[in-house]
Amino acid sequence: MALERTLSILKPDCLQSGAIGQVVARLEAAGLKPVAMRMHQLTTSEAEGFYAVHRERPFFRSLVSYMTSGPVVLMALEGDNAVAKNREVMGATDPAKAAPGTIRRDFAKSIEANTVHGSDSTDNAKIEIAYFFRATELVKYDVKR
Ligand code: ADP
Ligand code: MG
Repeated sequence: MALERTLSILKPDCLQSGAIGQVVARLEAAGLKPVAMRMHQLTTSEAEGFYAVHRERPFFRSLVSYMTSGPVVLMALEGDNAVAKNREVMGATDPAKAAPGTIRRDFAKSIEANTVHGSDSTDNAKIEIAYFFRATELVKYDVKR
């Protein structure tokens, strides 16, 4: 299995649900180790840039508005097959369609306020991690359970 990194964002609804700890616990339990972590209030231009791929979508303005409506937690996660593993633990974009036991099924409020972001490919993970973190902000440590 390939050791990968992926970008995770705990979205404003996650913080407003008081669920930071519960969501991070699920990620860690899945073998996704935070190697960078920071709280942040996204600006409109940061959110527009981050979601630029969606700029023609009907939900784009609302998504930018939502993502800037409150603080988020930015994380780089590391682990075997981290990109796909994170997507699996997150669940489908629409919480109504997310599998039982996934983060979105258990915490998300709506298809927009869906608790977590996760990179969708290793190439995008590199771009997204670099969007928020300098290489020197990524730490190294071992987890032994
Ligand atoms: P994912 O986050 O699962 O990769 P997308 O990349 O398709 O999903 O969309 C990015 C984000 O845009 C979603 O996580 C969600 O917050 C929002 N979004 C996606 N589809 C819709 C929609 N139909 N209506 C409102 N917001 C949406
Ligand atoms: Mg996506």
